[in-house]
Amino acid sequence: MHILISNDDGYLATGLSVLAESLAVYADISVVAPDKNRSAASNSLTLEMPLRAHKSENGFMRVDGTPTDCVHLAITGLLKGEPDMVFAGINHGANLGDDVLYSGTVAAATEGRFLGLPAVAISLASDDPKHFETAGQVAAVLLKKIVQNPLPKDTLLNVNVPDLPLSELKGYQSTRLGQRHKAESVIKSSDPRGREIYWVGPPGKEQDAGPGTDFFAIKKGCVSITPLQLDLTRYDKIDEITQWLSLSEGK
Ligand code: MN
Repeated sequence: MHILISNDDGYLATGLSVLAESLAVYADISVVAPDKNRSAASNSLTLEMPLRAHKSENGFMRVDGTPTDCVHLAITGLLKGEPDMVFAGINHGANLGDDVLYSGTVAAATEGRFLGLPAVAISLASDDPKHFETAGQVAAVLLKKIVQNPLPKDTLLNVNVPDLPLSELKGYQSTRLGQRHKAESVIKSSDPRGREIYWVGPPGKEQDAGPGTDFFAIKKGCVSITPLQLDLTRYDKIDEITQWLSLSEGK
């Protein structure tokens, strides 16, 4: 078994090395990760510049691109053999609900899935994450489970782990994505030359976070596992939009 590991926090992130150590016990691993923090890079590919890949002192390949670039590059030419699976993370922070559309961690897993491999995104759900070992152990548990019962080729799992010691985890739950309130306002400031600048503010607090959601599982101390699909089509609205298109303008 050969596992490709990537992340969005960069090749020096603690979460990446903990994930690599955990999975290296069970499989051959290749680590290809961004050369700096590219959190919230989503599924962006770099098309207007070449990409450079360098072997780092820690043995990981670092790429001057996005998480999606890293996985794309790794699978389509950088690695000698094609990996069997992609793990992304361990992200330094939660990827719950709406976060998955911005997340570079989920995007790295998504790219693996687009290229035909089973993929897992794993995040430590805390603003000040400490218990990376717990998430590393969870990744190993999931890997063993996947080896015993392979995931369908098109399956992408978004995993969030409570920031707790392993012994305090309450179990594993299969969940759906919850939703957040709309994001906080941008934060206005000025640069040293007095020009206006803006920082994107924090995400909104959870809104749809009841039983069955990823938010709820984390609040209860459980590992949240959400199977994601990449087809965003809202099938139940296709007929309604067909009718809407046929409506006269009412003049
Ligand atoms: Mn990140």
